[in-house]
Amino acid sequence: MPAAPSVETVVVDGLALAQTLRKELAEAVGRHVAAGRRPPKLAVVLVGDDPASASYIKGKRRACDAVGMASVERNLPARASQAEVEALVAELDADDGVDGILVQLPLPKGLDTGRVTRAISPAKDVDGLHPMNAGLLLQGVHTLVACTPLGVMEILRRYDVPLEGAEAVVIGRSDIVGKPVSVLLQQANATVTLCHSRTRGLREHCRRADVIVAAVGVPKLVQRDWVKPGAAVIDVGVTAVDGVLTGDVDTEGVSGIARIVTPHRRGVGPMTITMLLRNTLLAYEQRAGL
Ligand code: NAP
Repeated sequence: MPAAPSVETVVVDGLALAQTLRKELAEAVGRHVAAGRRPPKLAVVLVGDDPASASYIKGKRRACDAVGMASVERNLPARASQAEVEALVAELDADDGVDGILVQLPLPKGLDTGRVTRAISPAKDVDGLHPMNAGLLLQGVHTLVACTPLGVMEILRRYDVPLEGAEAVVIGRSDIVGKPVSVLLQQANATVTLCHSRTRGLREHCRRADVIVAAVGVPKLVQRDWVKPGAAVIDVGVTAVDGVLTGDVDTEGVSGIARIVTPHRRGVGPMTITMLLRNTLLAYEQRAGL
């Protein structure tokens, strides 16, 4: 039997990278304030009392604080009607002092996420989910792009993962992660295969990939024998298993095979929030014509 290939695996430090980027963002905010302008402001909307959503919102507001951005949280009860949610979004949209609006997903059952997303004007759509922004992304015009895909691309860039001509496999085709990240990879000149729950031979697709992005929500789906030696493996998935957060990749298993791997904690997560801050700054600057 030939010896198993051994590759030195670098575990991505998403937190350190996020901190570097947040320092740059804080400096940019500081320059605006020093020039006599108000700081950028993010509005977050929480419908219902899901503890995970409440904790994500807390993290986002804390991140705003840390870079000198303002933030406001608006809450509605889980029983809020579609009209009430849309009215709140419209109120924030009409507020000139608000630059970005984020409605924490998932919304409680019975609410139409698409309609709520479309109620945010594209200029304040810091989640990049409005059809106008999603359409512009498809056409290669990058304005406000979904945060997690931006974070994934930034990790690949900062860790010098070559994308030109690379084989990239994205697992998951959601509007918020899988689809936009596959577009960004393709625009970086990778050859992209977008896989999903009906894909046949998922393992074989992954085995020929130079880059794997797993955005599924199936714990440890991507196993050691799915990964080509030297591949970059980005784990977006976060699933609670017996109270423990678990990713889509068997991180320990791919160690010694992958060239880089993101851990499911302190990997993509901190970068997602950082890209939300970056989008809020961008929305602010674009709205102010700066
Ligand atoms: P989603 O909307 O539920 O989409 C999941 C995708 O995975 C779907 O396209 C689905 O295929 C596909 N899928 C499901 N089971 C599969 C399987 N066995 N094999 C192949 N594909 C399969 O999820 P999402 O919002 O994109 O999020 C994905 C994961 O990332 C979740 O764990 C979420 O918590 C996490 N997440 C993390 C961050 C972060 O910042 N770290 C941000 C966003 C999301 P079909 O389309 O055929 O149903």
